[in-house]
Amino acid sequence: MSLNRVPGDGLQKQTSSSRRPAASLPPTPHNPVPYTGPSREEMLALRTEYLTPTLLTFYKRPISIVEGKMQYVWDESGKRYLDALGGIVTTSVGHAHPKIVERLRKQVGTLCHATTLYLHPTIGQFAQKLAGHFPSDTGLKVTYFTNSGSEANDLAVMMARLATGSYDVLALRNAYHGGLQSTMGLTAHGTWKYPLPQGFGVHHAAPAYCYRCPFGLTYPSCDLRCAHAIEDQIRYETSGSVACFIAEPIQGVGGVVDPPPEYFKIVYALVRKYGGLCIADEVQTAWGRTGDHFWGFQNWDVVPDIVTMAKGIGNGAPLGACTTTREIAEPMTQRFHFNTFAGNPVSMTAGLATLEVIDEENLQENTRVVGTYLKQRLCELMESQPLIGDVRGKGLLLGIELVENRNTKVPATAATADVLEMTKDRGLLLGKGGLHGNVLRIAPPMCVTTDDADFLVDCLDEALGARQRDCTTDG
Ligand code: PMP
Repeated sequence: MSLNRVPGDGLQKQTSSSRRPAASLPPTPHNPVPYTGPSREEMLALRTEYLTPTLLTFYKRPISIVEGKMQYVWDESGKRYLDALGGIVTTSVGHAHPKIVERLRKQVGTLCHATTLYLHPTIGQFAQKLAGHFPSDTGLKVTYFTNSGSEANDLAVMMARLATGSYDVLALRNAYHGGLQSTMGLTAHGTWKYPLPQGFGVHHAAPAYCYRCPFGLTYPSCDLRCAHAIEDQIRYETSGSVACFIAEPIQGVGGVVDPPPEYFKIVYALVRKYGGLCIADEVQTAWGRTGDHFWGFQNWDVVPDIVTMAKGIGNGAPLGACTTTREIAEPMTQRFHFNTFAGNPVSMTAGLATLEVIDEENLQENTRVVGTYLKQRLCELMESQPLIGDVRGKGLLLGIELVENRNTKVPATAATADVLEMTKDRGLLLGKGGLHGNVLRIAPPMCVTTDDADFLVDCLDEALGARQRDCTTDG
């Protein structure tokens, strides 16, 4: 089936969902500045000619985004979209948030860079505020700032190896931990792996992906086989002492896969039994994104030894961090370790201001309220849209797995791509994930409203309905 069907074509047909008025974006007081730069075609041509061909674009006809205000973005023609992907879980408090713009403007006009060899107030102030957001008595207090999530994960594993003196690392299948050669080795998603030496000492365990249980079992009668299997993996595949276990509290790129409540408790205990440290990759789940808790790991009632974060913590500024205990960080002092841009005053200001906004505007609570409402509506949508096989996630980190048939669970990869196109045409930007590219991903800025959530669901309803009807007609 072609992705280039006439936008909204399916809406013309007389069916139950098309009799309703088409979903419309909630109003916004913001008027975008008329765009006067290169055309969409020129942008594409420049990119094609001068950038490495690795750069990806969504959509058959890639769109441009030239302005953003809170949860909305505009393309060069002035068309507005609800940014329900948040720049891939990165625009956390809203595009061009006034407080952050003001703080960054001031910092850029004062000092962009001087190197961490000299003192500057913001790095310490930010690290102090960050430490205050970990549950007390965890010892999670000292931070090494980085420029990205990949760097933070690379650092976390290095710290764990140095602190334990062990080499073996446990990670999960279906995980994404970054695009560096080291973190590509932690990642277990063929889509993102090159045929290169990578993953030295990394062992991938079966994920707690209940919808597609790797053991063909059903929760809770499975007795958490996936969690307990890690012990055999340690016994068979390692020397018997491991450096660490790294996992996302909710697997994002893998298709928003959240484990059963007991999973992490069992695995953390096993890893610690064999001398390993537990690393929570909170690159997508940190800072209130999951609604009920500030950190993703708190949803599973565990305490990691090292926590990595990036994406949303700078609201778009290139910023990552790795927080741990002083004891675990100490062995790194045996040599010099340095990162030129990490900890610079501009990204520190972005991070500190973002954290302040999350606190001041109670965005975690908004995430809980709007996220719960949105998930409830998406679950209801399952009743009328047979393409939906599963709705997962927490807060404003949600995934919708599309299947061709709910019994066979054959991934509806082509339909997912079509729905992505159709929702975009209607003014909604969603993401896509999962090994088969059949999971729609939702992670809007945490300032979204229930009106935005209604628009999102209505829009998705229209697109899924149109896709279903097209299939019926074609078939
Ligand atoms: N960990 C997770 C869970 C991620 O989702 C990502 C990015 N998708 C990374 C690490 C890597 O972050 P970055 O792209 O900033 O290097």
